Amino acid sequence: MRGHPRFSRALTQAPASGIRRIVSAAQARQAAGLPVYPFHLGEPSFDTPLAVREAAARALMEGRTHYAPNAGIPELRQAIAADLSRRYGTNLPAESVVVTVGACEALTLALMAVLEPGDQVLVPTPCWPNYLHLPRLLGAEAVELPARPQDGFRPDLVELERSITPHTRAIVVNTPNNPTGAILRRDDLDDLLGLARRRGLWLICDEIYQDITFGPSRHVGVLELSAPDDPAILVGGFSKSYAMTGWRLGYLVASLEHSAQFLKLHQYLVTSATAFAQWGALEALSAEAEVEAMRQTYQARRDRVVETLRRCGIEFVQPEGAFYAFGRVPTAEGGEAFCERMLREHGLGFVPGGVFGRDFGDWFRLCFAGPTEELEEGLAALREAFKVPR
Ligand code: PLP
Repeated sequence: MRGHPRFSRALTQAPASGIRRIVSAAQARQAAGLPVYPFHLGEPSFDTPLAVREAAARALMEGRTHYAPNAGIPELRQAIAADLSRRYGTNLPAESVVVTVGACEALTLALMAVLEPGDQVLVPTPCWPNYLHLPRLLGAEAVELPARPQDGFRPDLVELERSITPHTRAIVVNTPNNPTGAILRRDDLDDLLGLARRRGLWLICDEIYQDITFGPSRHVGVLELSAPDDPAILVGGFSKSYAMTGWRLGYLVASLEHSAQFLKLHQYLVTSATAFAQWGALEALSAEAEVEAMRQTYQARRDRVVETLRRCGIEFVQPEGAFYAFGRVPTAEGGEAFCERMLREHGLGFVPGGVFGRDFGDWFRLCFAGPTEELEEGLAALREAFKVPR
């Protein structure tokens, strides 16, 4: 008898998603008829722009229900390349774009394609948790490099370079950042690219929040600074800018030579992204007015959140992009206990900071992507929890 088949050690050792844990607790509360202010979800309150939905519905009715070309429909690859070229003043060939199943798949492709068991990837924290757990699932090590609030949560590049070992293969950065809202400056990205070139590393740059910025810093994209044969990998997607989370569409952009390798992996993993959804995404790239209207709403929500955090005496760094604020827990109980208590006593769904990096156990993340009315009610509940006078 050989006993029951087993799961891989890497998988069984991986924790369940920390964000999902809060989601479950919040759902249990809602099922019991209690209110929840959903600051824990990175989910835009908006519906996908109508013209985008119509384009996908049309494609569906026209029978675009077959496998799409592996790398994506040519029209969409061309439009993504043109859109990025316009934004970043470059001349990107459509062949360098691989259309993926969300930015999630683009990131997975990037990491799977370059990491081997035992390799290391440098990850400035706090960060989106997938940057930490995906390398571990691949038998590689995610080396955390905690950024400091006094540096506006921008990574310390001197420390980053010092952490490079013979096993280091890649650096993963995210701008604008989830969970802090920090934006990398042109100099940061320039230095990161220089470092990647000099030390023979991949620079994986997740820019899924490229459209959601509030100033004063402008979003600088890696394509703006990189040369065509640089070891830069751009991860992007439609979920956030266009309120298309459920469509599961993203893209990976790399040099022509490198894209062929990512495409090979993409074929083995998913064959291609959903055909009719890609026709919707093509339409999304012309939805500039809707994107700007959503951005303005996020900015107004950001301002309301910042005002409340200030009034509650909670330390945070002003978010310059994305739709999150990262605050320091003002009590001695730590992030886990604080978030658990905020949910239990006030219905406030926050995510404990430890989910975003080992050193951030005393922090919490508040997402302001949800509906404005709920946000206002939630902020009132937060002020009440902190006994802030009306
Ligand atoms: N990258 C970051 C930084 C994110 O915050 C998220 C989602 O929250 C994703 C990627 C995933 O994007 P997608 O829905 O396109 O898979």
